[in-house]
Amino acid sequence: MSVRPILLLGDPRLRIRGEVVTSFARPLHVLLDDMIATMRDAPGVGLAAPQVGEPLAACVVEVGDRLLELMNPKIVKSTGDDRDLEGCLSVPGYAAYVTRRERVWVVAQDRRGRRIKVAGSGLLGRALQHELDHLQGKLYIDYLDSLDDLIPVGRGDDEEEDAGDAEAADAPKGRARRVKTPALA
Ligand code: ZN
Repeated sequence: MSVRPILLLGDPRLRIRGEVVTSFARPLHVLLDDMIATMRDAPGVGLAAPQVGEPLAACVVEVGDRLLELMNPKIVKSTGDDRDLEGCLSVPGYAAYVTRRERVWVVAQDRRGRRIKVAGSGLLGRALQHELDHLQGKLYIDYLDSLDDLIPVGRGDDEEEDAGDAEAADAPKGRARRVKTPALA
């Protein structure tokens, strides 16, 4: 397994729609293993093949102890709305509030081509929607009215995670407020 460079905003390859995965042989497995290593190294909760320059409809998501490998994924059902902070490994240093569906059901194929169905809400649901967007050449910043809505975020030790939780619930949205580093995908 090797960690691959993650493409950054501005790279046109992030805007290419992922091609349908039709071969579930060793080259795909090598790619998936590299994507998992890259996602964990970042670290992030998801990574799509186009983010490492591979124009394929393949992504990985890892939330908690649940690791998903999804080829040719499609959302077949969704319910509710959920607005929360979201970040992207291809847009480092920023986050923004994005409204997503609260819960989604996804049909996909695993690395052997077997059909799988996944349901997710909360962070998992958000990560699934974020990765599926990548496979369409779409980034979360496309949902923003203005790039002024991007909130600079720090990384690492200077975050006050515990103190921030209580006030985060009713704090005003905007760049004036210091925010926790959101999960990146
Ligand atoms: Zn992303």
